[in-house]
Amino acid sequence: MINRTHDPALTSWVESANKPGCDFPVQNLPFGIFGRPDQPGVRSVGVAIGDCILDLGACVREGLLAPGPAADACNEASLNLLMAREPSALSQLRAEISDILSEAGSQSARARDASRRILVSMATAELDVPARIGDYTDFYASVHHATNVGSLFRPDNPLLPNYKWVPIGYHGRASSIVLSGTVIHRPAGQTKGAEAAAPVFGPSRMLDYESELGFFVGRGNSFGSTIPIESAWDHIFGFCLVNDWSARDIQSWEYQPLGPFLAKNFATTISPWIVTAEATEPYRVAVAPRDDSDPQPLPYLVSSGERDKGAISVFLEVSLRTGMMRAAGLEPHLLSRAPFSSMYWTVGQMLAHHASNGCNLRPGDLLASGTVSGADSESRGCLLEITSRGANPVTLATGETRKFLEDGDEVIMKGYLEAGGRPRIGFGECSGRILAQAV
Ligand code: MN
Repeated sequence: MINRTHDPALTSWVESANKPGCDFPVQNLPFGIFGRPDQPGVRSVGVAIGDCILDLGACVREGLLAPGPAADACNEASLNLLMAREPSALSQLRAEISDILSEAGSQSARARDASRRILVSMATAELDVPARIGDYTDFYASVHHATNVGSLFRPDNPLLPNYKWVPIGYHGRASSIVLSGTVIHRPAGQTKGAEAAAPVFGPSRMLDYESELGFFVGRGNSFGSTIPIESAWDHIFGFCLVNDWSARDIQSWEYQPLGPFLAKNFATTISPWIVTAEATEPYRVAVAPRDDSDPQPLPYLVSSGERDKGAISVFLEVSLRTGMMRAAGLEPHLLSRAPFSSMYWTVGQMLAHHASNGCNLRPGDLLASGTVSGADSESRGCLLEITSRGANPVTLATGETRKFLEDGDEVIMKGYLEAGGRPRIGFGECSGRILAQAV
């Protein structure tokens, strides 16, 4: 439900939050885990506001947040307990935080002073992966991505027959999910050239990124039970950006018959701030109608709510900065901007499908959408698509060209929720730089 926390007219007494283009205005209020410079080793739940973080643990201790199931979960070093709370408790917490941070909030002068004291500058804080991620699943929900990639390998028959019936996914690895800013070592693995008689083991020469939207499971489902599509959104805590780093040469040799393995599990980067499901409410839109020739989804993947509000108006941007560009002080090169609203499967459908066999999802599990690519050539979410597997390299301002990522390259992902008459709210950054192979 849209409520007063979404009011476009709200401003914050944290002035940096009111600047145009700021990712974290008072309508956003994303959660994360951070450490303060004066308390090394201590981790707290925080909310991003402008260029600052409101320390929610300190808010509870100062009496600025009313005791309750959600506030009690803020004295933790991860978001898992908060993620497990009822949506109504999370909504109440959001309303209280909005009241604390809004210029027009009902805070007393004493409370406002206390809030000011416990703000932490984001630039000095240390951010952490926000949840203990038990399991990670990656989907393949962009029909444009699936078609573009499929046509590289099967020009006459790009989409496999199951694609429009079943949300395709694979189980990824949680242990190698890292926070934005973590350097990524080029993976080594088995690769085999098309003409080669045998594979070799060595550094990947076709290292790629995938620009994706991730979503964290909130309340889970018990082993053997399902999550009906009608209540899927009650089990989504919130969203982040995901870079599913992919070694295409390792992938093409290993992926049959069981799918991605070492080509992807060496690293996955996520952005630090979780934009809550409630914050996305004003940006949720109707799902784009399927072509007349497409099958309708099976009934367990259909609900009126999902049809009318299952898509989200998010745009994902990817930029590249090479070592040479960094040395020359050049701005990153924009590679793509893609609308998440063009996805074939919604996050609700992905979640309901995942639990439809009785698989138990748990608070803090991470699900990701798969590469987000739109219909046009400026909206392709990985280099495999942009360069047609290296056939059409990208030319950069330095005169350098790229088929795939080179050592020293930095991939910078950003994402924005946009709707007419609403402030744009963002995710912060999901970035990572490639270093030479680990030795
Ligand atoms: Mn992926």
